[in-house]
Parts: sequence; structure tokens; C-alpha cells
Amino acid sequence: MATERDAEFLMFGATGDLAKRKLYPSLYNLYQKGTLGTHFVLLGTSRAKLNDDEFRDVVKQSLVHAGEKADTKEAAEFLSRFYYVQHDVTDKAHYSVLRDRLNELDKKYKANGNRIFYLSMAPQFFGPVAGYIKTEGLQSTNGGFNRLVIEKPFGRDFESAKKLNDELSKSFDENQIFRIDHYLGKEMIQNIMALRFGNTVLESLWNNRYIDNIQVTLAEKLGVEERAGYYDNSGALRDMVQNHIMQIVSLLAMEQPVAFLDSDIRTEKVKALRSLRVYDVAEAATNFIRGQYGSYGDEPDYRHEDDVPRDSNTETFVAGKLLFDNYRWSGTPFYIRTGKKLAGKFTRIDVVFKKPLVDIFAFPQSGEKPLSANVLTIFVEPNAGFSLQLNAKNNEPGFQTEPVNLTYMIDQAHSDQTPEPYERLLHDVLKGDGTNFSSWSEVAYSWKFVDQIRRVWDLSEPDFPNYTPYSMGPASAHELLERDHREWVYHLNH
Ligand code: NAP
Repeated sequence: MATERDAEFLMFGATGDLAKRKLYPSLYNLYQKGTLGTHFVLLGTSRAKLNDDEFRDVVKQSLVHAGEKADTKEAAEFLSRFYYVQHDVTDKAHYSVLRDRLNELDKKYKANGNRIFYLSMAPQFFGPVAGYIKTEGLQSTNGGFNRLVIEKPFGRDFESAKKLNDELSKSFDENQIFRIDHYLGKEMIQNIMALRFGNTVLESLWNNRYIDNIQVTLAEKLGVEERAGYYDNSGALRDMVQNHIMQIVSLLAMEQPVAFLDSDIRTEKVKALRSLRVYDVAEAATNFIRGQYGSYGDEPDYRHEDDVPRDSNTETFVAGKLLFDNYRWSGTPFYIRTGKKLAGKFTRIDVVFKKPLVDIFAFPQSGEKPLSANVLTIFVEPNAGFSLQLNAKNNEPGFQTEPVNLTYMIDQAHSDQTPEPYERLLHDVLKGDGTNFSSWSEVAYSWKFVDQIRRVWDLSEPDFPNYTPYSMGPASAHELLERDHREWVYHLNH
């Protein structure tokens, strides 16, 4: 049985999409597993006029939607711990109502003053709400913990992120702030550390002497859908690269932490990001390319999607080359790409090793195939696992090598038991473990890198649209690697 964690949640944006689709089902899983129990209570708030029972019904529906049986005794007990206060977060005077209700429920459920403030709402409210939590006395003062969970996006450039962070810092210390990056809750992203630091066979080769390049692909099949209002202001660089991709890259590039502790891991991630080369204008223009999807049959191009300006220059695709100026990685590029309306929805990491310096099996005169590179592929989603491509002799007459794969995939029975990212992340918040959250320094270095690309892009007019939906992006994404005499490991027809 899991260790029970006492906690009172204050859920801002309690009627929103994220809370309903992800947070309540995840909390219920934690409740079923015993991580949350008799000392768990949640106070929800938004502007909607609801009483406790109506709110419980909202939560119940969200469980049903997630495939849970919500008519059981256990579900009823869980739902009985949900309360609601109608509140507009801009109404300073009204925070006293939230405070009084929090204090009452804390006593009733003996939550020991352990408070988790979850801001599941639009980012413009993050700073002000965090401020009011402090100034209006919502934090507990009896020795329990006060933790703030912040959704993305964390700023839209370094300046705005710093402003937000300064605002948050007035109310919460860095170790009380949990900046969500849900990619860090994914099974195989968490597995990067196990693979690297649990295996001599990998970690001893994990450097520029043996690795030729590393490729990170986050592909989405859907277009912008109903998120155009947000997305058009953001674009792929801000929406995916600054946070998810930079986090993945820092886990791949970092040195071994002294211990498996959040503080040690953050130290190493920050060191890696500090050695990431921030490009000058010429380098940024050469090493990053952008794209926007065109039309496809009846499907409109990006500029003709609902709520997208007809002259939008927002990128729906980005590919780039990242260079670390440090002893481990100098000369070994990290290629990254992400985009909408690509050939599939998947996330994968391909670590391409150098080929043997001498290929003694190559007999060009007899047309034998040269050795392939060893490739470690980490499949993040939809299927989770990894595969190591090695060269072996095939069993045909003569002597011919061919690539074979050692593959480990988490089977369906196990992947059904794998906690959803939000469940893991909520569990980490309850434990006070910041390993799988972005620290301010990481966010700051990522923005500084990304801002420079944005600045250079803003100097010129892109030639959009430039890629066909359901491809792997514009031709320039392939040229980026061809120029370096390389190719993407995953390409269409693969
Ligand atoms: P949403 O569906 O628009 O929900 C926003 C919530 O905030 C609603 O409960 C809304 O209720 C409440 N709200 C809005 N204005 C308010 C005000 N002035 N005072 C009090 N409550 C107010 O947004 P969401 O999709 O859940 O997203 C929440 C956060 O999660 C955002 O930061 C988003 O970027 C992030 N996120 C979402 C997803 C996702 O899948 N949805 C994924 C990743 C990150 P009322 O209108 O009734 O007040």
C-alpha cells in the first residue's frame, strides 16, 4: 500500500478542461492506490455558479469520461471530499472567503496545514493569483507545506518569464514552486536516466567519441484544432521547443548527478543548458528552420483555419540543430523537430552511434552492404520501450551483415498499469519531489536560447505554407541533416 499523503488542494480553474480531463481522474487513481486517503480534501473554484453537489457532479462526470466506474462506494467517498466556492480570481476582497473555507476544511479533514495551490487556468492569472494567495493569507502557517503548481506556458520569452518568476518568488520559494512539464511525467522520459546511469554499456559510450548525433522528434498528427487563439500567439518554438524538447535534451546531455535527488539532477540539467551554444544571427538562420502546413484535400491550410489570421507567420513546424560547447558533446549535434499535421503522432529519441572506424566486412567488389550505425531508439509514445540496432551476420550463405534489433517494449498489460503523467506529477508534488519539474534556471536558459532563434526569424518574412500535411515537414528539415551528411533515422516509408 502506498504511503498516504495528507493534503488539501485549492484548485483554481476547477471547471476547466485540464482539471476535468486529467487532474480529477489522476487524483482518483492516487486515491484508489492509497496515496490520498482520509486526510485529502479539494476545494475547487472558478466563476461558474455551482454548489458542492453540482461541483461533485462535474468531477463525477470527469471520472466517467476517463472510463472509471463512478457509482461505487469508493468513488462516492472520493467525491464527498470535493467542495466548491464561486470566486473571480481578480476579486481581491473575496479571497477571504476561500481562506476561511480552506481553514475549515483543513480542520475537518485534519490535513495538517499541507496545502497545494494548483493554478489550472490561463497564464495571465498565474502572477496575480500567487500574489493574492500570500497577501490574503491563504497559505498555512502551522508548519504544514505550501506548494504552488503552475501550468504551462511559463512566459512567452525570457523577459516575461522572469517577470512572472519574480512575481511568484514574492509568495513562494523556488522549492515550493512546481512548474509542470507533462513530458517529464512520461514513462520513457523518466527512463532516460535509468538507461543512461544504470548501464555501463551505454553511459561509457555516451559522449562525442562514440555518438555521432542525437535526434529528438515530437510529432503531432492533428492540426491546430480549436486552440488557434492560443497557438497563433505561440507557435511550435515556444509551445514545444522551449519546454518539452529542451527538457528532454537536457536529460540526454547532462552529466551524472551526484545522487538521484531533485537538487542534484537540477544542478546537472542547468549545467548542460548553460553549455548549450546560444546562436548568433548567422548560426540561428542556418541551424533552425521553420514551417507552416499547407492544405490537404478539403482540409484548409493553417492560414485558413478558424481564428487564424490569413497572413499569419506562426510556425507549425520547427527543426533545429543544437550544439553543446562542452567536453562531452563538442562536435556531436542534437537535432530536434516538432510540428503539427505530421505523418503520425509519436515521440521518439534516436541516438546514432558512430560507425566502426574500419569496416572489415566491406567488399565493394562483391557488392556487400557496408555496416549500419548502431542506433538506440527510445520510443516515448504511443508505445513505450527502446530498441538497440546492432550489426550481425545474417544466416544466408556467404558472409553478409545486416542490422538487427534488440527490442524491449512495455506490453499492453503493463502499460495499462503505467500511471498517466499527471498522476505521477501530482504524486511528486505530494512528496515534495521536484525532479520532474522545470526549475527556474532551466526555464531561463531555455528561453535565452529560444529567444535568439525567434529574434532572427522575426527579421524576415517566411515563405509559408511550405509543407504538405502528413509528411515529416518541409524539405529544409531534411536538408538540415543532409548538409551534415546525415539523415533523420525516422523518415517516411520507414
Ligand atoms: P480552460 O478550459 O479555459 O479552463 C479555465 C478555467 O479557469 C475554468 O475553470 C474557468 O472557469 C476558470 N476561470 C477563467 N477565468 C477566471 C476568473 N477570472 N476567475 C476564476 N476562474 C476563472 O483552460 P484549460 O484548458 O483547463 O487550461 C488550464 C491551464 O492548463 C492553462 O494554463 C493551459 O495552458 C494549461 N494546459 C492545459 C492543457 C489541456 O489539455 N487543457 C494541457 C496543458 C496545459 P470560469 O470561466 O467558469 O471562471
